[in-house]
Amino acid sequence: MEFTRLPHPAPVSDADRTAAIADPGFGAVFTDHMISIDYDEGEGWHSATLGPREPIALDPAASVLHYAQEVFEGMKAYRLADGTMALFRPEANAARFNKSAARLAMPDLPEDVFVEAVKQMVLADKDWFPSVEGGSLYIRPFMFANEHFLGVRPAKKYKFLVILSPAGNYFKSGAPAVSVWISDYTRAAPGGTGEAKCGGNYAASLVPTGEAFAKGHDQVVFLDAAEHKWIEELGGMNLFFVFDDGSIITPPLRGTILPGITRDSIITLAREQGLDVREEMYSIDQWREDAASGKLVETFACGTAAVVTAVGKVAGRDGEFTIGSGGPGQVTSSIREKLVSIQRGTVEDRHGWVTRLD
Ligand SMILES: *Cc1c(COP(=O)(O)O)cnc(C)c1O
Repeated sequence: MEFTRLPHPAPVSDADRTAAIADPGFGAVFTDHMISIDYDEGEGWHSATLGPREPIALDPAASVLHYAQEVFEGMKAYRLADGTMALFRPEANAARFNKSAARLAMPDLPEDVFVEAVKQMVLADKDWFPSVEGGSLYIRPFMFANEHFLGVRPAKKYKFLVILSPAGNYFKSGAPAVSVWISDYTRAAPGGTGEAKCGGNYAASLVPTGEAFAKGHDQVVFLDAAEHKWIEELGGMNLFFVFDDGSIITPPLRGTILPGITRDSIITLAREQGLDVREEMYSIDQWREDAASGKLVETFACGTAAVVTAVGKVAGRDGEFTIGSGGPGQVTSSIREKLVSIQRGTVEDRHGWVTRLD
């Protein structure tokens, strides 16, 4: 697919850009350009453009505004030790994007078009790469229904966009370990949309997350919808539990958990390190009991945005408990280090996970 390049009439000045990327935080600063591809039933995907990032005109009846037909991805461009820009497993994001789209009755976007769009976008705005330690360009590809029609059925028109946001550290405090709140709300039910990366899941997580913040915690832990017993994941990160015998448990993908690419990479890396990683259901009561007995030594959360983050404290309706010393443990730190080293190109990429861009 050919991308038509539209000239930018007024890109941000060098001085303003340098100021904006000095301490970008997460999700607040955006680059000059965006990629846009349109879909119409019959015609398929067309009008691929790389142009100025600008507001989109939507008809008030655009179906995304009423029935939330929207899916997205979250990925990052890294700068390797030798200065080259690189992506981490972009084809995995492309495949997951289509799985999410299928669940929301949206059209398939060819994986090579997805990856090409992301590459072109990053190369177009690579001067926006933040200078901060641990910085990256956060990439947000997304698709939404924009047919103006209020009947309840899949739309016949869609828009795919890619925008970029220079990112520093995800957690504002840069906290070495986070405190989590076990929510009474549920994120996903069997047969629902839990394994799709769709905006609707996030809309439903805002009240529970707000409740956690109000109680002084950083994140929410969601339990399963049916028994309210089995640990599933955080609002936007998967969980791992590390035991004193060196074994690791992560909840299995049963349709209610988002299949994280970080999760999958960590399972591979930990197994290569000789660790026994099991995808197994783990209950909240067992978590509390194992933390108290010392059998459970570490818990960490993982995802593209925050990479690997230790969980230090857990609180819920039935009181609170501390994991290990309350700070990041040794396995958490070593797995984080291993993953970050591959992403930054300081160790050999034996899995073909890193795609160099220039
Ligand atoms: C995106 C996401 C994750 C993490 O996935 P990664 O591919 O590792 O970034 C985990 N849980 C939810 C709910 C998510 O939306």
